Parts: sequence; structure tokens; C-alpha cells
Amino acid sequence: MIPTLYIIVPCYNEEKVLPVTSRMFSEKIGALIGNGKISEASKVLFVNDGSRDNTWKIITELTEKNFRFAGLALSRNRGHQNALWAGLMEAKRYADITISIDCDGQDDINAMDAMIDAYYDGCQIVYGVRKERKTDTAFKRITAEGFYHCLKWLGAEVVFNHADYRLLSKRVLEELANFKEVNLFLRGMIPLVGFKSTSVYYERKERLAGKSHYPLGKMVSLAFDGITSLSVKPIRMIIALGIFVSLISFAAIIWAVVRSFMGKTVIGWTSTMCVICFMGGIQLLCLGVIGEYIGKIYMETKQRPKYIVEKSAGLCAEKEDLPAETKNGRIEQPPI
Ligand code: UDP
Ligand code: MG
Repeated sequence: MIPTLYIIVPCYNEEKVLPVTSRMFSEKIGALIGNGKISEASKVLFVNDGSRDNTWKIITELTEKNFRFAGLALSRNRGHQNALWAGLMEAKRYADITISIDCDGQDDINAMDAMIDAYYDGCQIVYGVRKERKTDTAFKRITAEGFYHCLKWLGAEVVFNHADYRLLSKRVLEELANFKEVNLFLRGMIPLVGFKSTSVYYERKERLAGKSHYPLGKMVSLAFDGITSLSVKPIRMIIALGIFVSLISFAAIIWAVVRSFMGKTVIGWTSTMCVICFMGGIQLLCLGVIGEYIGKIYMETKQRPKYIVEKSAGLCAEKEDLPAETKNGRIEQPPI
């Protein structure tokens, strides 16, 4: 059976780039259908993540002009990971495979062919991996690669230089739906699902228009989310630090008592302050890290919905509800 592909595209304030990239997505999906690799029912699903510009207006116009486009509007901005999750979870009702991609044209759309070929070879997950980071600034390259090394060192399994450009099969999506966590870090969660997987390499380009939504602050927050969602090693490091500091303190206490018995005690304000500051600092640092995990547990226990769909456009209720001629594969490729 020819699989139905849904290309999932999260969009936040992307009015500048959407008119350009929507055409690219439509052409790609048309070519893939033409090659007989994917079914006629395949679509591009845009997820509007509470944009404040004309993004949703553009999406609805696209869905009216071309039935290959569909849209979902979240009730507010929930961030890239949640928007992507919303798209994947909604698409799994209609699609046999999904490919998630950013809407700014940075990821090479032609890598999709190789991804689908890998799916035909039996892979359930195909990771899009950047060959090199020529278009990134030196700062972004060093921080991003450092982040992957740091995650690996902390014991979290992630694919090096892979972001959120990937193919997932329906089987993987169904298993992924059982992951109930609300702090989403998809590139760490997906390797946990397992199944046969592979990587496809591509060159990452500059954004076609608009500007990045990941300034340094957001990148650090995503990195922190990634580490704390995937690894408890920081807590273990605190325990090791606690043991180390306690041993030193114990030795210092013995030394102080011995000095006191020898009658050589000098009560110094400086040393007292140093100890208080040192201990206070270490304790606050440890409390901060532990607090981060407690905060996560707090959020998890709430079991809040990860997204709320406000409205949709161009989506059928179920795959069976598709028009008969689409099911039989007789619909012509529409004009873009
Ligand atoms: N995005 C989103 N919600 C947000 C921020 C970003 O859906 O709150 C989308 C954005 O429209 C884009 C993708 O996530 O399609 C990646 O964002 P961006 O290109 O700004 O990140 P960068 O490539 O610079 O890391
Ligand atoms: Mg981008």
C-alpha cells in the first residue's frame, strides 16, 4: 500500500517566509505523489502556534486554494516543541508517515526523498542530520555542538546535529502518544521509542526570510529542558559534590578540635565568613538544581493538556471521510 505522508510544519509569526516555503512544500509533495512514493491523500499540515501576525490568515488562504494544505491553530503560543507535538498527534489519525520540518526553508526539502526511501527499506524513524554548520555563526556552532556533547556526557541519547527534521511512521507516533510527560524535548524522546532507524544527511541553509525565534535565552532554556528531561545525572553530581565537601569539612573539624586541644585556636572572622559563604553558595546551587527537578515533577503531576486546538482548516475528520475520488487516487495535482 502506498503510504500517506503528512508534512508537519510548526509556524510562529512566519508571514514573511510562509508564502515562499508553502510553494516549495506543495511542489515537493506533488513530485513525491507523481513518483508514486506517497498517496494522493498526502498533505502539508501547518500548525499555527498562536502567531500574532498574519500567519493563520495565510494558512487558511492556502487551504482554500489547494487541498494539499491543511492547518491547525493552537489556542495560544505554546512553543515549537508543543506545536510540533500537536501536529504529530493530530496527523497520526490520517497519515502513515509524517515528516516534521521548520517553515523557514533552512532544512533541505530534497532530503525527504531519501527519508521516504529509508522508510520503504523498513526504517520507522529517519533522522535528518546536518552535514556541517557553515551557515551558523561561530557562537551558535560552538554552543550547539557543545550542547550535544554535554547531553551525551550526561547519559542522554540524542542524534548528533539532528534537530526536528525527521520522518516518523504511524507505529512510532502511536507509541510516542503513550509518553505522558509535559516537558517536551522531542529529539531526546524519539530515540527512546526504538525501532529500526537511520539518518539522512543534508546541508542546512540560511533562513529564507524573517528572523530566528531561538535567541540565546530560549536556546539555553531548551538546553536546560533537554538535560533535566532526559538525565538525573546532575542530581548524582550534587550527591558526589556533597560527599566531597562533607569529607573536607570533617577533616577540617578534626583539625580545628586538635588545634583547640593544643591551645592554638585563633578565632578569625575572615575564615568564619569564608566557610559560611562557601557552604551557603554550595547549598544554594544544590537547592537550585534540585528545585528544577521538583518544578518539573510539579508540572508533570498537573497533567495539563500539551496543546489545545482552537480551529482547523482543510482536515478531514477521519481518513475514511476523504472524498471517494481521493481514496481511489484520481484527483489531479491542483494548481499551486
Ligand atoms: N516556532 C514555533 N513556536 C515558537 C517558536 C518557533 O512554532 O514559539 C517554529 C518556527 O515558526 C519555525 C520553527 O519553530 O518553523 C523553528 O524556529 P526558528 O527557525 O526560529 O529556530 P532556529 O532555526 O533559528 O533554531
Ligand atoms: Mg530556523
